[in-house]
Parts: sequence; C-alpha cells; structure tokens
Amino acid sequence: MPLSFSQLNLAPNLMRAVAEMGYETMTPIQAQAIPVVIAGGDVMGAAQTGTGKTAAFTLPLLQRMLKHESASTSPARHPVRALVLLPTRELADQVAGQVKAYAKYTQLRSAVVFGGMDMKPQTVELKKGVEVLVATPGRLLDHIEAKNVSLAQVEYVVLDEADRMLDIGFLPDLERILSFLPKSRTTLLFSATFSPEIKRLSASYLQNPVTIEVARPNETASTIEQSFYSVKDDDKRRALIQLLKEKGIKQSFVFVNSKLGCARLARSLESAGFKATALHGDKSQDERLKALDAFKKGDVDLLVATDVAARGLDIKDVPCVFNYDIPFNAEDYIHRIGRTGRAGASGIAVSFVGGNNDMRLMGDIEKLTKQKIDLLPIEFAEQQPDIRKQGHFNSGHRVWDDEEKRGHRAAREDRTGYVPKTFARPAPSKPLDPFFTQPYQEPSVESLAQHDALQPNSHAVSARAGLSPNIKSKKKVAALFS
Ligand code: AMP
Repeated sequence: MPLSFSQLNLAPNLMRAVAEMGYETMTPIQAQAIPVVIAGGDVMGAAQTGTGKTAAFTLPLLQRMLKHESASTSPARHPVRALVLLPTRELADQVAGQVKAYAKYTQLRSAVVFGGMDMKPQTVELKKGVEVLVATPGRLLDHIEAKNVSLAQVEYVVLDEADRMLDIGFLPDLERILSFLPKSRTTLLFSATFSPEIKRLSASYLQNPVTIEVARPNETASTIEQSFYSVKDDDKRRALIQLLKEKGIKQSFVFVNSKLGCARLARSLESAGFKATALHGDKSQDERLKALDAFKKGDVDLLVATDVAARGLDIKDVPCVFNYDIPFNAEDYIHRIGRTGRAGASGIAVSFVGGNNDMRLMGDIEKLTKQKIDLLPIEFAEQQPDIRKQGHFNSGHRVWDDEEKRGHRAAREDRTGYVPKTFARPAPSKPLDPFFTQPYQEPSVESLAQHDALQPNSHAVSARAGLSPNIKSKKKVAALFS
C-alpha cells in the first residue's frame, strides 16, 4: 500500500515543494527513513540509486531545522546546521539542486562547494551564512583551512554514497571533517552497497543507527532489463550502433573504463553522425557540467562517460545504459545501470563482454548480484565495409586487396590493354651505376699481370712481410675494380 506524504505531518511550506515536484506517494526509503530522522535517530541506509534517498534525508532535516528559520540577513543567524558530504562534484551539484527545490518556500539557505571551481564565489556565499552545506570533502577542507566556514554548530551530517567516498580514498579527509563537528549530532549514512569498511565507519561515527534496507544491498533494480552480449573488442562500436538502431534507443549513457577510450569513442560516434559527448575526469569542471547539461536538455543523445559519472547522477528518463567495457569493480556495475530504471521507470542495461578480462569481471558481477548471466551472441545485420583497408605484406610492398583497388586495376586493363603483373618497386629516378647491375666477373689474368708489371717485386715484398702471395696490395685490389 503506497504511503502518502500527508501522513508525515511535514510543514506546509515543505509539502508545497513536494507537491510542486509532482510526487504522489513516498518511495520505500522515504517511508522508512523520514519518520526515523524526524524523531532524531541516526540512520544507516542501504538504498539503490534512484530510490529517492535525497528527499529521504533532506525533507526531515529541513523539517527539523525550521525552528531556526530566520529572515535576518545577519550571517550569524544562518550558521551551517546540516552538512551533506558527497564523493563527486556532479553529485554534489545535483543534490544541492534538490535541496534548493525542497527548501524553496522556507527561509533556510543552502550552498554547494566542490573543487575545480573558483573558490571566491563559494567563499562569498559561505560568508553570508547557509544552513545546509553540500560539499565534496577536499574542497570543504580548503574552506575550513581558509576559515571561510565554521562547522561548530552542525547538528546533522549526511554521508551520501559513503562506499564511494571510501573508494576514492576520502577516509582521512572524512575523519578530519568529522573531527571539526560537535560530538552530539544526528548522522545519516547512505550507501548503495555495504562493505565491511562502511560497517566499521558507521560503528565509529553513528549512534545506535536504525538500519534501513529498501532493497538487499548489491541488488540491481528489478525495473532494469539486463542483457550481456559476447562481442569482440574490435566489434563493440559496431554492436553499439546496431543495438541503438535495433532497439530504437534515443538517449543513453555509454560507460567505458578509461578516459582515453571515453574521448575516442565519443569522437568516433560523433563522426558516425551521433550527437555524442564525453564526460571524464580530464575535462574541466565547466566542460563536465556543460556536457551533463547538454545531455539533460536532450541536445546530446549519447553521454560517453567514465565512472566519474556513474554514481548518483539523476537524469530523468534515460532509457538505456551501455557498458561498453565491463567495469573493473563489480559494484560499479550496479551504480552504472542505476542510471536507468530510476524512480520506478523501466530501463535497459546492455553490457559488452569482450576478451578474457571482461569474462573475469563478468564473473565478479555474477558473484555480487548472485545472478547467473547468460551471454548472448550478436549477429550483425549487414557486413559494413571496413574503413581500414585489408592488406598483406609481400616482399616489402603492401599489396592492397580491396575491391576499390581491384576496380582501378580492372579499369586500367580495359582502357589501355596494359595488364600490370605486380605492384613492383617504383623505378628509381636516376639511372643506376652499371657496376651494381652487371653480373660479377672474375678479374682476368691479364689485368692482374698488368698490375704486377707496374709493381716490381710485389711478390718479394709480400714474402718479406711474411704475408701470403695471394694477399694483394691496395693498388692490386683497386685494379680488380677498374
Ligand atoms: P534520488 O535517489 O534521490 O537520486 O532520486 C531519484 C529520482 O526520484 C529523482 O529524480 C527524484 O526527483 C525522484 N523522486 C524522489 N522521490 C520521489 C517520489 N516520492 N515520487 C516520485 N519521484 C521521486
């Protein structure tokens, strides 16, 4: 039985924002987490991406902070009371957008700080005072060190995508940030997957947390139709294009494992006529946000991305996710395919399994999801002419064997009657020295005698030097060549 938001007794200004978002009923994580947080409990939430967890922590935090609402412009009246930490800039930006939307009809202020952007505008906003601060750990530490922000009055901390923060190596930064916070506070930790490290982190920073699991950890969304195709690495691009056409897919994420592979594939899809763009860590923050924005607006159809984009990005109605490469980390598979089938919508996840390495990584996914994967073959609809010419090596000449070349030869035969036997080495432009072309000839006896005559006592000279008479003087050798 779906639960309505009206059962929560949320303040009217929050209910108004919820209604504006168009939500009719609560998602399972919201139904379970919101009452716990309103009552002041710590939460350890295992929730899939796309389950509505942002609202699950934001709405009750805003509800509890409403008592501090102030119309005053004084920064002192707007200290940071809630801190939301996330692993990536994109995710921070997205969550900050949602916080703003839910707090729209309140006097509570929010801001976001993340790296790769100028610190100055962030500093200006922090100095004006904000109640909800959304941040990535590195940039937050920069602001703390620059004394742009104080965390002394923080009452609520959210560690979102906590497993990812640990993967990225944020644990030391996290611990430093947590050391600046008051001991007495509410802590909410969300993670799609619960590793032993996450359990250790929660044991040291959460107090008697209520564990909420809306789906078993490591389970993929049931609304996503998953298929795995066996495709040779060289055929992946072709397979991608064929499946896009066959399944009539307009917009899709295409995940690759390397930044270079990401940039190359995006370029190659673009030159094949697709509206594609790349999103990877070597792009500037501005370029990354622009790429994402173009995808959200529908100006771009294929967002080719590395795992930087895999976590938590919420873009509505992405019908499909391609794993062009199988992710190195099986947990990333769950995050990647979580980009589709969000908030109950159905989605397709297609993965290409290439060489042995992909097979091994696929085995990791089977273990993690506890599902047996059936590999499908891919049949190519039509033989596409390979742009690269096929050739073979032959005594140093590359002999092109493609249709086009054969066509040219046939045409030449018709017009001139000339039948080329082979593609021989081109004739040198200068005539060669005949010495190099004529066959070797033994020197004549006369020429040697002639030379000896010019060199009296040459045999005697050789004998005196203890050398064989067959060893000729330099001049004799020269005569042989004359
Ligand atoms: P999240 O898991 O927080 O990233 O949310 C995923 C998507 O679900 C976002 O686009 C939300 O706007 C949407 N959403 C959150 N709560 C609800 C709800 N109760 N009903 C419908 N959509 C929701």
